[in-house]
Amino acid sequence: MTTWRIPLSDVSFGIEEMQAVQQVLESGWLTMGNVTQDFEGAFAQYTGAQYALAVTNCTAGLHMACLAVGLQPGDEVILPALTFVATANAVRYTGATPVFADIFGENNLNISVEAIETCITDRTRAIIVVHYGGYACDMPRIMALARKYKLHVIEDAAHAAGAWLDDRHLGVWGDIGCYSFFSNKNMTTGEGGMLTTNDTALYEKLRLLRSHGMTSLTWDRHKGHAWSYDVVELGYNYRIDEIRAALGLAQLRKLNDFNARRRALVECYRDSLRELTPDVSVPFDAHPGITAAHIMPVILPQGVNRREFMERMKAAGIQTSIHYPPIHHFSAYSQQYAQLELPNTDSIAAREVTLPLYPKLSEEDVLLVAQTVKASLGSF
Ligand SMILES: *Cc1c(COP(=O)(O)O)cnc(C)c1O
Repeated sequence: MTTWRIPLSDVSFGIEEMQAVQQVLESGWLTMGNVTQDFEGAFAQYTGAQYALAVTNCTAGLHMACLAVGLQPGDEVILPALTFVATANAVRYTGATPVFADIFGENNLNISVEAIETCITDRTRAIIVVHYGGYACDMPRIMALARKYKLHVIEDAAHAAGAWLDDRHLGVWGDIGCYSFFSNKNMTTGEGGMLTTNDTALYEKLRLLRSHGMTSLTWDRHKGHAWSYDVVELGYNYRIDEIRAALGLAQLRKLNDFNARRRALVECYRDSLRELTPDVSVPFDAHPGITAAHIMPVILPQGVNRREFMERMKAAGIQTSIHYPPIHHFSAYSQQYAQLELPNTDSIAAREVTLPLYPKLSEEDVLLVAQTVKASLGSF
């Protein structure tokens, strides 16, 4: 196993997380109850959403969102290919067809609004936007498009906890927002996720989908509020638990500080890279809104061997990554999308490298990474 001098990401836990988990263990109640309700309430308040629903992970949340807006076989859903495969998998779970739209370009890795419009057909039912790195998609124009063509909008806000555009939290613009608390996300519960919505009917539907379509939960029966239940539709077990909800509550309280630190480090990266390696471009320069600064993507100049570059970074003890191998090239997708051309996605994704970013990173670390980027670029 490689011991990294600077890993790609790292968690930030303190005594608050330890105590929160210990309290749950001492209480003796581990499955969804008070703590989960508190977590949901706090997340709804934080984002300004009317409802928040905690789930076992964001992938499950995306699946539920796709079901809740009524996706079925034959339907088409427009989404970017430059995202984690979960975004497209969730569409496929319902039998609907993912339709990949290109991204804006080198300074904006989000789905292009023009590209969305050219993908719309009479089968299109929904758009799934992904706020890449916690940088806002153009939600005012996307919502206008959705209204014009009567489409649902699901926001994959896995990168975007604590990110805003025009005073509205990301994930609260469309019908449903889906957040991830996986261990490398801005706030974490190990595995975990949250859905937000302002629509009461969607919320009720999501609640049923989370727990087998049951009209009452173990917790309600424990509290004496119910003695039996009906199953009113085909649902799943996509529940979170009290241990993770307690972790999430503790992390949510720190999220603003974490994200402010991430943004400061991104500025530090921008300054260092501009000075040391002006050929390397740093996307989302002067991007609107307040970013969650989830990851630190850079775009290498044409002609650089990315694999060799990443090997050199690794030899210096610095972990890098790729966000993302575009979905339409994966074996499980490539046959169906063999003819698809996404010029911006393909040319930019092939040159993207993600540098380390997490709150505990120091300014000295950032400078060291930037210097190592410069050294690793030499002689291609
Ligand atoms: C992490 C991530 C997901 C999946 O989240 P899980 O909680 O791991 O299921 C979905 N979409 C994007 C863009 C992600 O980064």
